[in-house]
Amino acid sequence: MSSHTPGPGGDDGVTPRLRCRGLGRRLPSGGRSLVILADVDLSIGDGEFVAILGPSGSGKSTLLGLMAGLDRPSDGDVLIDGESLGAMSEDDLALMRRRKVGFVFQSFHLLGNFTARENVMLPLELIEANDAARRADELLDAVGLADRGHHYPNQLSGGEQQRVALARAFATQPPLLLADEPTGNLDGATGRRVLEMLVELQRSHRTTLVLVTHDPAVAALADRLVHLEDGRVVRDERVQRASDAPADARSGPGPATSPHATRGDEVA
Ligand code: ADP
Ligand code: MG
Repeated sequence: MSSHTPGPGGDDGVTPRLRCRGLGRRLPSGGRSLVILADVDLSIGDGEFVAILGPSGSGKSTLLGLMAGLDRPSDGDVLIDGESLGAMSEDDLALMRRRKVGFVFQSFHLLGNFTARENVMLPLELIEANDAARRADELLDAVGLADRGHHYPNQLSGGEQQRVALARAFATQPPLLLADEPTGNLDGATGRRVLEMLVELQRSHRTTLVLVTHDPAVAALADRLVHLEDGRVVRDERVQRASDAPADARSGPGPATSPHATRGDEVA
């Protein structure tokens, strides 16, 4: 329970898409307990694009794993749409992930014995969607791979494989997408192309996106930057763009009074 002013992505009476409450992760290490993550409080709103930044080893992947319920916290809790992951069984967690969470990994994680199209169809078949093939084709088209659906991952370049992975991640239209350094294994130009596609899909599907990166170009596209150091959030800032200001905020009688319009949201 926190008493401070809610951060960006807010708790202002609306259930956040994703919430971390006093989140911590410790690991036993030579008879002691090693702190990997501590005191993480975050509320992430619907459709927000949050970049998680921080040096290698600062706990970014650990945080993402906890958000997905792939790992269990030592302290605190994660809530998705107000539902506590801590209270869920492994089966419930698997079901929740299938319905609500998409993933993109640094190393693509496509199934090698399945074609690109079959890889995209897989999550749809798991939820027994009746239009899996059509939806897979639409998504492959959206990532510029309409003519590569019959190819196996080893017949595709890294950038193409990651585009298939994007199509797969969006297949079930999950409200929440978690991406761990999705451009980390790609060269600069390819990485940028993949990133642009990711952001385009995120915007058109109004997906909440939490993306781990240490690439400043990636961060430049995010709505909000959360910086981790030594397992703690040291800065949480909203990126202001001129085009973001709602019409009523610009045409109002005086200066904006909403805390969200002005706050830098420094934490720690
Ligand atoms: P990042 O993704 O920011 O590079 P990680 O979340 O992968 O960081 O790891 C944070 C810290 O936790 C690192 O120091 C890492 O070595 C340690 N760590 C993560 N997972 C394990 C594990 N299973 N066993 C021991 N140490 C781990
Ligand atoms: Mg990592």
